[in-house]
Amino acid sequence: MVMNRIGKIVELLTQLLPNPEHLQLQNYELDVEQRQIRVLMESVQQIVRCPVCDQVAHRVHSLYERTLADLPWADYQIVIQLTVGKFFCDQERCDRKIFTERIAGVMAPWARRTKRLAAQLSEIALYTGGEGGAKLSKTLHCEVSQNTLLSLISRQSIPAVKTPKALGVDDFAFRRGQRYGTILVDLETNRPIVLLPDREADTLAEWLKEHPGVEVLSRDRSKTYRQGMTRGAPNATQVADRFHLLKNLAEVLERILAMHTQQLKAVEAAQIPVNDAIMIAPVVPRLAIQERSAKARERRFAKYEQVHQLRQQGWEILEIARHLGMGKRTVYRYLSHSKFPEWQPHPHRGRSQRSQLDAYKPYVLNQWNQGQSNTKQLFEEIQQQGYRGSYQTVARYTHRLRQTQKQHRAQLGVQLQLPISDLQHPPLTARRATWMVMRRADQRTDVEQVLIADLKTQHPELAAAIDLTQGFTKLVRERLPQQLDIWLDQAMSSSMKLFQGFAQGLKEDYAAVKASLMTDISNGPVEGNINRLKLLKRQMYGRASFDLLNRRFILTS
Ligand SMILES: [Zn+2]
Repeated sequence: MVMNRIGKIVELLTQLLPNPEHLQLQNYELDVEQRQIRVLMESVQQIVRCPVCDQVAHRVHSLYERTLADLPWADYQIVIQLTVGKFFCDQERCDRKIFTERIAGVMAPWARRTKRLAAQLSEIALYTGGEGGAKLSKTLHCEVSQNTLLSLISRQSIPAVKTPKALGVDDFAFRRGQRYGTILVDLETNRPIVLLPDREADTLAEWLKEHPGVEVLSRDRSKTYRQGMTRGAPNATQVADRFHLLKNLAEVLERILAMHTQQLKAVEAAQIPVNDAIMIAPVVPRLAIQERSAKARERRFAKYEQVHQLRQQGWEILEIARHLGMGKRTVYRYLSHSKFPEWQPHPHRGRSQRSQLDAYKPYVLNQWNQGQSNTKQLFEEIQQQGYRGSYQTVARYTHRLRQTQKQHRAQLGVQLQLPISDLQHPPLTARRATWMVMRRADQRTDVEQVLIADLKTQHPELAAAIDLTQGFTKLVRERLPQQLDIWLDQAMSSSMKLFQGFAQGLKEDYAAVKASLMTDISNGPVEGNINRLKLLKRQMYGRASFDLLNRRFILTS
């Protein structure tokens, strides 16, 4: 019975070790202190073949011991001490006289770790990068250095490319603003094919020549890719990406709207019922807060200067971070700016900060406008309706209401108690108006419909620009290739240089633009891949070599 039980336990342990068929568990050494188990194993292979001539060898030369790291057990590191045989190869025509027996699937001839551990570490390296991977490997009780992880990635082979029928091409920033690469994505599987190290026409043309068979090529509007594609795959159909077409169109409209700020202001003003109500005054940050933030800015500015000085004196990033007690990322950020990066205050901060009171403001306002200005009573009333915020919050709000009316009375010199409105419209900027016009009609609010109609009445040029924009978005979204020529004529004969230029650009890229109106293929999958690429780059703190980035990107897709 006892033997049976022990036999079962040995059987279980053997199953946890690599290749139970050819390797036998002999003994173990447990180091509780170091959390390490040294497992002693021996080869029991019956048939051993020479690695050179593949013939079976029979004569043992000697025994040979190897040490291999393996996958951890619970929180124990596993080290396998493996005894294998050295054999004579007796084949006369074979060059190899003595060899060490191989254990299939367990390890490479000179490796220091088992294949399955190496595979797991490679995955860790691919998904978390060198620095994070080294930390994670420690947590997982198979600690290795960052360099080991990076060399594991560089040893992985990238699977051979199957040339796709539909290929999406776009550029991406490798080092922001300094170096760009090109990403190629299979538009049928949405998987990345490869990253090219630049965005030159020749590089793309070369790749296409080496991988013939692409039938459809999707791209942005750049001349570079157009040339690269025409040279590399002259028979493929080029498709201008619809998203990029609409983006270019939006840029045109925004520039035209930006020339009509007066009209935008007029439309914006018209949407606020000035005669019936006055707008509540915005919250102004208190002086103490302003002073505090000025001091904080001074401190940050001093650090910014120190960072640059130390760097000029040849300090390493890490040393600077440690010396000044700041994060590495902040040091990088400061170094990447040649001018002090000011904190950008959020344009709607204060206004957009959510308050417990928000849901009760309409009630408070309504009561206020009817003459109820007793804060305590208002507070009690909304408490009964479920308000759980503080009295001070309500008091601050009624104070603002009182101040608003006071200011307004002072400005107008009248004693009228005007009702207050707390509706906050975001300002009607050229950009906001642009996206209002670009949006699908069924996704616009009623207010937006009115604003667009108002804009068109303000100036004939605005009316023409909005009509042209909506005409083009319609033919792109509904895929109406037969209307393209009509639209191009309208745009060319408009009085707006910007639209003429846009139409001229479309004419120069006519075939690809027209093709985009006759297909469902788009560069959407490329955008998705670029987002994943950005995440990877951020993880690598922008220091990765191009080869490493490419491997991680392709192998984790
Ligand atoms: Zn041999």
